[in-house]
Amino acid sequence: IQYSMVDLNTVFEEILPIVESQANLYGIDVQFASRGKLPMVVGDTELLKQVFINICKNGIEAMGEQGSLRISHHFDPDGDKVSIDIHDTGPGIPLYIIDKIFDPFFTTKEEGTGLGLSVCQKIIHDIGGQIRVSSKGFGTTFHIMLPY
Ligand code: ADP
Ligand code: MG
Repeated sequence: IQYSMVDLNTVFEEILPIVESQANLYGIDVQFASRGKLPMVVGDTELLKQVFINICKNGIEAMGEQGSLRISHHFDPDGDKVSIDIHDTGPGIPLYIIDKIFDPFFTTKEEGTGLGLSVCQKIIHDIGGQIRVSSKGFGTTFHIMLPY
């Protein structure tokens, strides 16, 4: 893949309508707190869209009939990484599966492929980033950390 400079603001402007239309089907509210504030990163626009769509879709699927999906960001104190934080108010991820969710084919869904997060992780690792998840009791946050 030929990487180039990608404006994360454009990535989100393009995926938000898709995420919002899926969320609206379930009465889930979407908050995007980072409009116009995101940096440029080196990567591939289409692959980055795929990552964020997948993570948002997992959050929406986890919430079921109501809840909210919040997308925000923060800059690493060292000043060279941005973390995109995608939070849902779903049931959270039980401790006994949290170490498996990035494994290919791991799914808890009847019709899941279990490939979403493993593909997301590979895309992010390939551009020098990391994905972390935090889930304690209710709600889940995925942190997608990227050098910029
Ligand atoms: P799939 O969506 O096909 O199941 P993924 O790789 O996208 O595969 O996700 C793997 C598993 O991780 C899911 O089946 C689910 O158990 C868990 N998971 C991922 N995101 C969330 C989330 N936001 N809340 C709760 N569980 C989640
Ligand atoms: Mg998925």
